Amino acid sequence: MTIHPIVVYGEPVLHRAADRVTEFDDELRTLVADMFDTLAASNGVGLAAPQIGVGKQIFVYDAEDDVAQVRRRGVFINPVLVGSKVSDGRPDPDAESEGCLSVPTLDFPLKRSEKVTINGKDENGETISLVVEGWFARIMQHEYDHLQGTLYVDRLQDKWKRRWKREQKAEGYNVPGVSWLPGTDPDPFGHGEDDEED
Ligand SMILES: [Zn+2]
Repeated sequence: MTIHPIVVYGEPVLHRAADRVTEFDDELRTLVADMFDTLAASNGVGLAAPQIGVGKQIFVYDAEDDVAQVRRRGVFINPVLVGSKVSDGRPDPDAESEGCLSVPTLDFPLKRSEKVTINGKDENGETISLVVEGWFARIMQHEYDHLQGTLYVDRLQDKWKRRWKREQKAEGYNVPGVSWLPGTDPDPFGHGEDDEED
């Protein structure tokens, strides 16, 4: 069991498209197992490989699907995501706020697709697929974005973008080399409260 440090906004690997996985071997399966351990220690709902400094198209998730009323835990490798049209208008700060383990302590509202289809491979190279809605669809979009080098704060509407820019400066989330270690460093989102980060 290895818990990896989570890198913070400004680390270059977060801001470039991740590489496709070509070898479905034991090394990959160890990496995926480490990602599940790191996710659990971070109290998050999703974790993408670039967040532990690995520029590969892999993410893991472990969260309640409120719409289907099941807990979903799994991995997507080399995923392709197709989402429904994102509705116009302003995001609801209560119902549509998002956070990210690579942007510690902050959250901002953001509109997302209500429904997504996601196809990819698991750690054994088997084809897998999910069709999900609501909060869980948001998690899938957030993690998929990570593999394209996009973080949710890069998508904010102007009002929230201005707030993010201020916070980014104040927190120093604009330089490489910053990370935190889940389970060792203080939980940046105060685990036990209502927020869920991914
Ligand atoms: Zn994230």
